Amino acid sequence: MKCNISKKCGGCQFQGIPYKEQLKKKQKKEQSLLGAYGKVCPIIGMENPYYYRNKVHAVFDRDRKGNIISGIYEEGTHRVVPVENCLIEDEKSQEIIRTIRGMLKSFKIRTYDEDTGYGLLRHVLIRRGFSTGEIMVVLVTGSPIFPSKNNFVKALRKAHLEITTVVLNVNDRQTSMVLGDREKPIFGPGFIKDRLCGCMFRISPKSFYQVNPVQTEILYQTAIDYAGLTGKETVIDAYCGIGTIGLIAAKKAGKVIGVELNKDAVKDARINAKENKITNAAFYQGDAGRFMVEMAAKGEKAEVVFMDPPRAGSDERFLSSVVKLSPKKVIYISCNPETLARDLKYLTKHHYKVEKIQPVDMFPFCDHCETVCELVRK
Ligand code: SAH
Repeated sequence: MKCNISKKCGGCQFQGIPYKEQLKKKQKKEQSLLGAYGKVCPIIGMENPYYYRNKVHAVFDRDRKGNIISGIYEEGTHRVVPVENCLIEDEKSQEIIRTIRGMLKSFKIRTYDEDTGYGLLRHVLIRRGFSTGEIMVVLVTGSPIFPSKNNFVKALRKAHLEITTVVLNVNDRQTSMVLGDREKPIFGPGFIKDRLCGCMFRISPKSFYQVNPVQTEILYQTAIDYAGLTGKETVIDAYCGIGTIGLIAAKKAGKVIGVELNKDAVKDARINAKENKITNAAFYQGDAGRFMVEMAAKGEKAEVVFMDPPRAGSDERFLSSVVKLSPKKVIYISCNPETLARDLKYLTKHHYKVEKIQPVDMFPFCDHCETVCELVRK
């Protein structure tokens, strides 16, 4: 399969390279960045590396002839490149985006113009629960008034009955962020559910959720196996998002404490605990570093720390508190081997050693790589 816009898009750095070769490249990169800390296991790739993304984003605009287009920003610019068939995004979601594009004219909905601020529809964001089939459509608009929105939703659902919720999100600011602060469901509950590793998770529009659910189950399972839980441990799930790792671990742990910055995600995590009938997990909203400093200052104990920070990695405040708390194990889940290497340098200088490093390919055709790393206290 071939993508003819990959150069302009810039999202897939490895388009045109056979999948096996891509895996080799990633293995090599992981080896060179992390090999000094321990043995890097062979990367776990996908059987079918296409259409794996459960989250699809399209920006709406008009071309020079005035035709409505949807796609992605050309790399480094605000020019929109039309996308017809992306090889890594969920196919059903792409179909829904095409339907919406086709509906705009008859509903007299104009696309938003970033320069003038006129027009309505800016972006469409779709998330699909691969295991439940539930689909969330987020319509991001430049103003809160969406004319005949009920009829719009009706017509959209007529074409795609599988849509389970539609959310209106208002973003009237000059920003490269897709979602604005104000949002409300105009159909359904305003979130979708998806199942991972035997637990059901609710996902709100602004909450982080791993984009490749097939590989996420492998990633999480590896992390939980590395933790070697016996049922007694106090476990910290730092940078916990909607509580996925912590809640899956809770069944095998004494108690789980999760911390996450995003308010919506923390709310999801608390509800997810209840819905899965997990009573030994608590979630806190705040900066993970500050939270850990407080835990360490209070002399709290934890045997296992899962940490899954964003691409920028963790910080010294967090890491130094981990060292103070001195858990038996730290399971580091990383989406950026460069910052992982930096943080491993700190931890291996402060009483920890690396036991295992397992790369998992969560992003076929892209040069990003996910890694699970088991550290144990010396
Ligand atoms: N473990 C989750 C989320 C990982 S993504 C999962 O697998 O789904 C990283 C998460 O860290 C995001 O949810 C983001 O909102 C959160 N985050 C970013 N900076 C943070 C900080 N300083 N403190 C706590 N959480 C943070």
